[in-house]
Amino acid sequence: MPSSSLDYDSKLRDLLLIALTIREKLTTYSDFYSLHWVRAHIGDYCNEIADFFAKLAITYGEKKNFPAPQSHIVMTLKNKLLSDWEVWWSTCNNGIWVQLYIPRPNLSFYTNSSFITRFLNGHGPFISYLNRFNLKSTNLYLCGSVGDADHYVFSCPFTRDFHLKCPVVKAKPIWLRSVCENPYLHSKLISSILTARKINQ
Ligand SMILES: [Zn+2]
Repeated sequence: MPSSSLDYDSKLRDLLLIALTIREKLTTYSDFYSLHWVRAHIGDYCNEIADFFAKLAITYGEKKNFPAPQSHIVMTLKNKLLSDWEVWWSTCNNGIWVQLYIPRPNLSFYTNSSFITRFLNGHGPFISYLNRFNLKSTNLYLCGSVGDADHYVFSCPFTRDFHLKCPVVKAKPIWLRSVCENPYLHSKLISSILTARKINQ
């Protein structure tokens, strides 16, 4: 390799070291200096110089590790959580009923209503649920139909005064959100479950 080429490489490395030193100093004195984005290739002298050194760094630079900002870590973990959760949610064989109402996991839906939780998971004062654990001899309610949450909330004649309109499959997620956010609808859900339990006792 000709000596001129070696000199050139050496110079590039020196420049690269200078660039890296400047960047580290800027990081150290971030209270006084900051790096800003500017549009590329419009003749900004400083930006062209920065672009030149960036290309040098890509070619000759050594890999450097800089700590990521906290916001980046939070966002990365949040996306990872949602991604893993969605895979688990879509492949899980349990909770098929809940998936009709909550087809995809998300962080925006939240309820502290135990009645909505009971409606969704079916774990409540429903005769069909109690029958599963031999706490009732039958899974049929007084009307003769299977006494699950769906029945009490939508169709049982004993809870007629509190019936909610049964949504089609496609509309179940919107329906659930409405019940969570609308106090009137929520109170009807509560009343139908409490009425069913009262009669059942
Ligand atoms: Zn009934």
